[in-house]
Amino acid sequence: MPLDLRTIYAVAAATSIILGLLQLSAFATGRFGRWPLWWGLSSLLIGTGIVLAVLRGSLPDAISMGLANTLAWAGYLLVLVSVRSFAGLRTKPSHYLVAVIAPMSLLMWWIEPGGFPRRAALVALLWACCDAAVTREGFRLATRGGLRSAWILVALFLPTSILFVIRAVLAWNGHFGEELFPAQPVPMHWTAVGAAALVLARGNALLLLAAERSASQLAALAQHDPLTGAKNRSGLERAVAALARDGDLPRRAALLLIDIDHFKRLNDTHGHAAGDEILRLFADVARSQLRDGDVIARHGGDEFVVMLPGLGLQEGVRVAERLRQAFAGALAARPDLPSAPTLSIGVTEGDATSQPLDQLLQDADGALYRSKRLGRDRVQSRQDEQVG
Ligand code: GH3
Ligand code: MG
Repeated sequence: MPLDLRTIYAVAAATSIILGLLQLSAFATGRFGRWPLWWGLSSLLIGTGIVLAVLRGSLPDAISMGLANTLAWAGYLLVLVSVRSFAGLRTKPSHYLVAVIAPMSLLMWWIEPGGFPRRAALVALLWACCDAAVTREGFRLATRGGLRSAWILVALFLPTSILFVIRAVLAWNGHFGEELFPAQPVPMHWTAVGAAALVLARGNALLLLAAERSASQLAALAQHDPLTGAKNRSGLERAVAALARDGDLPRRAALLLIDIDHFKRLNDTHGHAAGDEILRLFADVARSQLRDGDVIARHGGDEFVVMLPGLGLQEGVRVAERLRQAFAGALAARPDLPSAPTLSIGVTEGDATSQPLDQLLQDADGALYRSKRLGRDRVQSRQDEQVG
């Protein structure tokens, strides 16, 4: 089927400009950070560059080639800036400007008639490099950032970075002819159809990533206590359920119920803010003492739960004792804090598959109650009445 390349380019330009306006309106909501600004500007610049290229023949070459290529390249690079911004990386404006201007100055030398193959090859190579850089960011977001939808970025940008290299080689060898819009359609026109479809798909890719990221941020918020960053009850229940479900994790765990002694008195004497600071300090100390995979949760008020997968009762007691002493040490290093409250801790152990969390908490609460009754500032286990 013969394809009219100029029409295809015009459609791609219109699509790109409309997408750009949509992305800028997403930025205007103020809910997405700055990346939609860069992506929106990118789409507008690419669209405008293509419009100028479509008018080749009716406009001076300096505009329909030089300016068109520069705008399209400036826009293309902004995709990378946008993905980096999404990943929390800042791009220096000076680096961006050099990356736009340096290759474009090189391109200007080739505006003479007959320079089309070399110019087309250089442009394709530049776009290949940019796509490779976006692929790299996508890979990082997927692996280090844990965003599964970032694989969509890899899937959309890796193939084109390879295709652009092939295109560069073909263009260099004169397979695209001598002009952008040859009178006779060539098979390569289908690559332009593919490119127009990609503009659409790519325009939505980051929105999918943003949706996944906000969903996981909301889920994390719903499972954590905002004051201390420890898990809340819901987060703890999920962690226990994971032990019961995931065959790779140990099913048995030691469970510590930790309560700050005379916390109400501290609040009453020194104020709520001082109490909050103590709660945060405890959570920090606990995190510094625990392994990856251990769980710390705020059970309410001044009570925390620590779950230690794979540990038994005696090891749990040892960790509890270490926590109690580390908290005392951390308080001693903070003379700015008003007083040095102690910890009472109850320890139990259980099997996540056969014992409900409530049962474990009840056992640990019995031991904690004994700690309080025996005078506080100590560790008691479910079995051993005299530990600590
Ligand atoms: P005990 O040694 O028996 O544990 O005595 P206590 O005073 O620590 O026990 P109680 O459970 O009566 O007191 C817990 C206090 O924790 C009551 C409440 O005012 C305070 N509290 C609960 N949530 C917060 C919070 O988010 N911040 C602060 N600063 N205090 C809180
Ligand atoms: Mg208390």
